Order: sequence, then C-alpha cells, then structure tokens
Amino acid sequence: ATPTAIMVGVGRGASEGILIKNAEVLENVGKINAVVFDKTGTLTYANPQVVDVLIESTLSKEQVLALAAALEEGSKHPLAKAIIASSPQTSPKSVQAFQNYSGLGVSGEIDGMVYFVGSPAFIAQFTSLQPSTVAQTFLEEGNSIVALSTKEQIIGYIALADTIRESAKIAVEKLQNDGIEVYMLTGDNERCAQKVARELGIEHFFAGVLPNGKADAITKLKNEGKFVCMVGDGINDAPALAVADVAIAMSNGSDIAVESADLILIANDPLYVVNAIALSRATMSKIK
Ligand code: ADP
Ligand code: MG
Repeated sequence: ATPTAIMVGVGRGASEGILIKNAEVLENVGKINAVVFDKTGTLTYANPQVVDVLIESTLSKEQVLALAAALEEGSKHPLAKAIIASSPQTSPKSVQAFQNYSGLGVSGEIDGMVYFVGSPAFIAQFTSLQPSTVAQTFLEEGNSIVALSTKEQIIGYIALADTIRESAKIAVEKLQNDGIEVYMLTGDNERCAQKVARELGIEHFFAGVLPNGKADAITKLKNEGKFVCMVGDGINDAPALAVADVAIAMSNGSDIAVESADLILIANDPLYVVNAIALSRATMSKIK
C-alpha cells in the first residue's frame, strides 16, 4: 500500500468537495454495500412549507400558527423555521420553561399554560391525547405533521411539505445499479416516508424512528453482515453516524452531525456519495 496514492486520493476528494478525515476512511468507503440515508435535509432540501392547517378548537388558523411559532422560537428544526416563517405575527409571545425533545418536538409555557408542539406520537406520549377521526385523514395525506396541544386538548395540526433534492433519485439509482442496498431512515411519519421512498425508488425505509432508533437500525444492518454507510445532517442522526462503518454528513448539517462524520459533502448533495465510492475504489486499485 502506498501512502502517496492515499494522500493523492484524499487531496483529490478535497478538490471535488469530498472532505475525508483520514486515510482509513478513504479505504473503507469502497467497501460500502449498504447506504442508509436520513430523509429530511439529506434526501430533501429541508425547506418545508406549511401547506395546510386543521383546527380542532375555537382558535383560528392564524392563532394556531402564531402560538406554534412562538413555541418554536427556541428550536432550530426545519419544521420550526417553516412554522415561524408562516406565522403572521411579528412579536411572538414570550415562552417560559422551553424544552426541546430531539426528533419529537418542543414544549413551553405561554401565559401560564403548558403547550406541546410536535409529532402526534410526541403529543400522545406527553398528554395521552389521540387524534380525532377527522384528524386521522389529515395525518395520512403524506405530509409532515406538527400538532399543537395543551395537556387537555389538541388545538390543531399543521401539515408541511418538503422538496426532494434534484439529484437524490439519480444517487439512489446509481447505488442500486452498483449492487449497493439503499435504505431511508426518518423520524417523520409512515405516510410521508412512503411518499418520498416511492418517488426515489427506495424499497427499504423505516419511519417514526427516534435518534437512538436510528442507531439501532444501523447496528441491525451491521449485524446482518453489511458494511454500512450512514448519510445524515441532523442532531438526530448523530447516534446513527457514530455506529456506522462509514459516517457521511452534509456540510450544512448540524455541528454534531459534521463532527460525528468521517466524510463531509461540501455540496450537500447525495450524489457525492457515489463519487466518494468511485474515488475510493480508484485509489485502492492503484495501491494493489
Ligand atoms: P427526520 O428524521 O426526517 O430528520 P426528525 O426526527 O427531525 O425528522 O423529526 C421527526 C418528526 O418529529 C417531525 O416530522 C415532527 O412531527 C416532529 N418534530 C421534531 N422536531 C420538531 C420541532 N422542533 N417542532 C415540531 N415538530 C417536531
Ligand atoms: Mg435530517
């Protein structure tokens, strides 16, 4: 093995926007036979837009968005940003006792009332409230869902839709044509995950997965004998990135995702996973 060839490979990667943390990583990338993509921010742009609001109380849509936006002020989640952007109100109400639950949602107090903003599963866990029959239809339309609730009552639901990255489909296709299995992992709901997976031609996906569940999914694939690459961008992907054989992060991802990664994609483009594998193989073939 010539260290020079590896150094050249790492350098070529850098010039192409593939930052490789060390020589061993470059070697490992060529051995990947299963790639697990996070959905939000990795296969999609994470620029969700509010597309619909369902009211389950006497409040107006504007009031639901304004309350949710006030509570989301302390969150950096893409859904939080979208809700804040959609809210008509300019000076949000002040929030006490704010708490963030990664992969679930947030809670806080406004005027002495405790509120929860997050996935229906999060609401169920913290309040035992379940969606009404009307809400169930709304929840199954394939959007990301954020519910607003107190301990006693669900106030409303906000549906958000994200855009799939242009090159994601090509990336998936190229990996699959190369005999590499492609998986998708998401904290988002089953319907929304299914819609994205179908559009991208991804057969295997896991929805409603919490951050530690993402790591468990990677461990399970490793135990099946696969050499697993995790590609992610969020705080919620850090546990999965930590256990993967190769951890790849989008450069615009959260600090913890970038720190947990072995390889960083400057262009935030899943297609560069394919390029990284090609670079590794080309480099290693020069060594033997
Ligand atoms: P992904 O795995 O696709 O990146 P997340 O794990 O970040 O998704 O989020 C999963 C779900 O949890 C979201 O669809 C949403 O319902 C809920 N959620 C997470 N964070 C927030 C937040 N800050 N505000 C509202 N909902 C949230
Ligand atoms: Mg993400």
